[in-house]
Amino acid sequence: MEITTAEVIPLSHRLPDGHGLGDARGFGHDRSTSLLRIETDAGHVGWGEAFIPGDISKATFESLFADSVIGMDPFEVESLAERSYTDPYHFGGSVFVQSVVSALDIACWDVIGKEVGRPIHQLLGGRTRETLVPYASTMYFTETDRPIADPIERAVDAGFDAVKIKIGTGVEADRRRVRTAREVLGDEGRLMVDMNGNYRPDQAAKSIRNIADYDIAWVEEPVPPENIAGYRELRARTDVPLAAGEAFYGRFEFKRLIDHRLVDVVQPNLARCGGLSEARTIAKLASTENVGVCPHVWNSGVGLAAAIQFAASLPDYPHTRNVPEPTMVEFDRSENPLRDEILDTPFDPTGGSLAVPQRPGLGIDIDEAALDRYRTD
Ligand SMILES: [Mg+2]
Repeated sequence: MEITTAEVIPLSHRLPDGHGLGDARGFGHDRSTSLLRIETDAGHVGWGEAFIPGDISKATFESLFADSVIGMDPFEVESLAERSYTDPYHFGGSVFVQSVVSALDIACWDVIGKEVGRPIHQLLGGRTRETLVPYASTMYFTETDRPIADPIERAVDAGFDAVKIKIGTGVEADRRRVRTAREVLGDEGRLMVDMNGNYRPDQAAKSIRNIADYDIAWVEEPVPPENIAGYRELRARTDVPLAAGEAFYGRFEFKRLIDHRLVDVVQPNLARCGGLSEARTIAKLASTENVGVCPHVWNSGVGLAAAIQFAASLPDYPHTRNVPEPTMVEFDRSENPLRDEILDTPFDPTGGSLAVPQRPGLGIDIDEAALDRYRTD
């Protein structure tokens, strides 16, 4: 089997003024990403995603990959990550290269699944669970005054019992937001907080101490992702679980987090970390230090599908039957037609459960007419 065509499809959805999504660092209005569509001489179409703006993924794909991908056998998928570290030499591990590798890798696995008639999780080592627990990413900062509890109330009403909220703008504000979330969620639900790297270690430590009595399942990016010494410092100064990884690309960066257990949970984004092949390597590295894995998802429906296939294949190490916490997948609750409209059948997280697709490959069908509404080229 050979890849006969490969096309990068840049997509963007702009949120209207006043409806930007806020984290501790500010507001964003742009939901841009890139899909990759490949076709093979066996008649299969495969989809992947590079979670970077379309003009960058197009240029990166065309200058570094297009020539070698046309004619490639998709079964050689794992060679993509290996090649990316040596060719291009010195910058193969960068976000733009690894994101394009991610798209290619996911699209190849989609095609392999279709060729052999199996869902990707079976090809990654087998299904370990039939459903996954989606956690709702919600309670973003808003540009206009709105009741802060509204979005988390809607998530809980929809059946979510695991929720992640944005904090990170000051110790007292953090406590108010966490208190609100815990009141809505109740005592039993899992509550995660995301500081989006907006603190120095001393500030993060102070805030963590101030919210620790609300039973926080993890604190995400308490300090900037590149501040490895900051994570080490927080390790020593706090005892709330830490999580990071959405801004890491490839196994070597993840190894820095995993070595010495600087975090409790690594969060590879399937459309940036190098794809399913590299995520599997990262998960194996994590297991060597008994670090948890929970994919970060802020992607289109394609990246979400890849995260679900990946998470469904994760072993429950070190647990056998008595798994104290379920494997979760992030489910962003904000408006994003690139997640919902481009799939013939969008994923349904209501009831606090996500079914793992059992059809071949990613197990999704793309509505190509819907793509045209968000294409930027
Ligand atoms: Mg985050």
